[in-house]
Amino acid sequence: MTPQHHKDRVIIIGGGIQGCAAAYFLAKRGQTVTLLEKDNIARHASGVNAGGVRRLGRDLAEIPLSLAAMDIWNHLSDEIGDAAMAFHPSFYVKVAIDEPGHIAGMARAEALQQAGFQHEVWLDETEIRKRIPCLARNISAKNMAGGEISGGLVVEGDGWAIPWRIVRGFADAAVRNGATITEHCHVESLKRQNNMWQIHTNAGDFEADIVVNCAGAWAADLARQSGEPDLPLTAYAPMLAVTERRPQILNAVMGILGHTLSLKQLDTGQFVIGGGVRADADIHQNEAGLSIPELATSMYRAAQLFPDIAHAKIIRCWSGIEGYMPDNLPVIGRGNQDGLVHGFGFSAHGFQLGPAVGEALADLVMGQQPRTSLAAFSPQRFSA
Ligand SMILES: Cc1cc2nc3c(=O)[nH]c(=O)nc-3n(C[C@H](O)[C@H](O)[C@H](O)COP(=O)(O)OP(=O)(O)OC[C@H]3O[C@@H](n4cnc5c(N)ncnc54)[C@H](O)[C@@H]3O)c2cc1C
Repeated sequence: MTPQHHKDRVIIIGGGIQGCAAAYFLAKRGQTVTLLEKDNIARHASGVNAGGVRRLGRDLAEIPLSLAAMDIWNHLSDEIGDAAMAFHPSFYVKVAIDEPGHIAGMARAEALQQAGFQHEVWLDETEIRKRIPCLARNISAKNMAGGEISGGLVVEGDGWAIPWRIVRGFADAAVRNGATITEHCHVESLKRQNNMWQIHTNAGDFEADIVVNCAGAWAADLARQSGEPDLPLTAYAPMLAVTERRPQILNAVMGILGHTLSLKQLDTGQFVIGGGVRADADIHQNEAGLSIPELATSMYRAAQLFPDIAHAKIIRCWSGIEGYMPDNLPVIGRGNQDGLVHGFGFSAHGFQLGPAVGEALADLVMGQQPRTSLAAFSPQRFSA
């Protein structure tokens, strides 16, 4: 069989949220774009994450991008149609259960005010309890140093989404606007020749003016192969658990200041529990590990906030392969070589950013000014 040979202006590698959102924004602006995905759309981190649409607690450098993303989330049906119904805005709260958490929360609220950001506010205990009446009174147990809830940081309008539906929504919207998406297409080599990228895959050869590297935890391998300097990307497997259905008691997404926890209750009544707990990942075998003892620490914390959770059966645990950078900030920017743009390394908090990252990657491809500065995310920051 003669290998297929395709020619495009832009090839995106990776069908996670970043790649699909970039494909959508490029296609919407009339670019000829093909996305190549080695497995299925949303097969990895983007489809199996906790779906937290969270501005709360972002690194200061990431806040403008996160706010830009929220603008898109708030009008998502204009971009991806009915799939946007998979986003459930509510509010996000991180409560203080001990003195270090209280001090850190107050300091954070103050620092953000001083930096001119209004979205994170400190609410006292009475306000928090008014909004979440089922919250436990006395929090002191295994794995918890605390006692009483003394208040918390809140962001109105943050919430959660069913992640794979959102990613699929961007992919479908990209196709409606003229993009081509090819699944089960593994990019095996990538080289720049005669001012074009030559892309060799298991499903034929491709040629493009510009390559956008949205290959998640696999992205540094691709970058290296294309001749870029080494980028310090490490793969891990953040973990989650989901319970059986329980009566509705939680209308927010919750965390604890100074302790790792992410907790939400879906509209089915099920609790999704995780946040910050991770196992090993093997990118070559496509394998994400699971450590039940580690994950149990999140379950204990969740059950201390809401004693009912202690009675809820865990029905499934899982993890996904995610790429982390040493400074926990993503890599978003032009590579050293002509026609190469990177968008990866989201360090377990890239889902909420996705819509704005897709838009920014489209800007970079088209030589336009992104709506927020990407300086903190420069791929070159590690070689300086
Ligand atoms: C369990 C878990 C919980 C999380 N919770 C949250 C949360 O609540 N909120 C939040 O904001 N973020 C969260 N995250 C992080 C978020 O999911 C990721 O940051 C984000 O999905 C990364 O998107 P991506 O498109 O860069 O990567 P991915 O989704 O990994 O997509 C990259 C794609 O590239 C493909 N690919 C790789 N190499 C090749 C190749 N050579 N050829 C073709 N295709 C290739 C892969 O198959 C993959 O599908 C969580 C992550 C996990 C795993």
